[in-house]
Amino acid sequence: MGEAAKASGIALSLHAPYFINLANPDPESLKKNTGYILASCQAADWMGATRVTVHTGALMKRTRREALDIALKSLREVMAVCDGEGYGHITLCPETMGKINQLGDLDEVLELCQLDERLLPCIDFGHLYARSLGELEGLEATVKMLDRVEELLGPDRASRFHSHFSKIAFTPNGGEKIHLTFDQEDFGPDPAPLMAELARRDWSPTIICESAGTQDVDALTMKGLYLDCIGKKAL
Ligand SMILES: [Zn+2]
Repeated sequence: MGEAAKASGIALSLHAPYFINLANPDPESLKKNTGYILASCQAADWMGATRVTVHTGALMKRTRREALDIALKSLREVMAVCDGEGYGHITLCPETMGKINQLGDLDEVLELCQLDERLLPCIDFGHLYARSLGELEGLEATVKMLDRVEELLGPDRASRFHSHFSKIAFTPNGGEKIHLTFDQEDFGPDPAPLMAELARRDWSPTIICESAGTQDVDALTMKGLYLDCIGKKAL
C-alpha cells in the first residue's frame, strides 16, 4: 500500500481503533490504549503514513475539566512510550468528537495538542457541527474556528492541521447521529466556506472525506471548490 500510494502521490494516514478512550483513568485501560496506539504507529510506519488519528474519549460522568486532565496525562504517557519505541516521527492527531458527552470539542483538542509541538489536531468539521447542534457552520464560524487554531497552536501548525469532513445528522440531545452524503440537504456543514477560507489563508491541511459511501465523489467536489477559489480549473 505504501509503495502504491507513493507512486500515485497519495499521502497516507491511519486511524487508531475507534474505541480508544484517553479519558479513562484506569491504569489497565491506559496500558491497553497505549498498546493500540503503538500498534497503529507501527502499521503507519510500515506503509509510510506519517499521521495517526486518535479519539480523545468519553466523559464517563466526569466534568469536562476532569476528563481533559486525565486525557492530558494519558496522552503524555502514550507519547513517551511511542517515542521510546522509535515512533517519535509519527504525528499523533487527537480528534474533535461529534457527541456532546464525548471529550473533544475544538478547545479541548487544541489544549491536548499544546502538550507537545509535534501533535496536530484532527479537526472533524462534521463532528463540530453535530456537537454544536448545527451552530458551527458557515463562513463566520469557520473563520472563528481557524483563528482559534492559529491562536493556540501558532501559524505553522495551524496551516497543516489534519481533518475529517462530511455532512453529519445530529439529535438535539446528543449530537452526532449518522454520516451523510453531500447530496443530502437536511444537515450540514457545507464544505464551500472551509475551502474558500483555506484558499484565502494559503493553508495546506490534510482533509479526509468521510461521507457515507460517496467519499470519492465528495472529495472531488471539495477539491473542485478549493481549486475554484485559488483560480485554477478543477482537475
Ligand atoms: Zn475518528
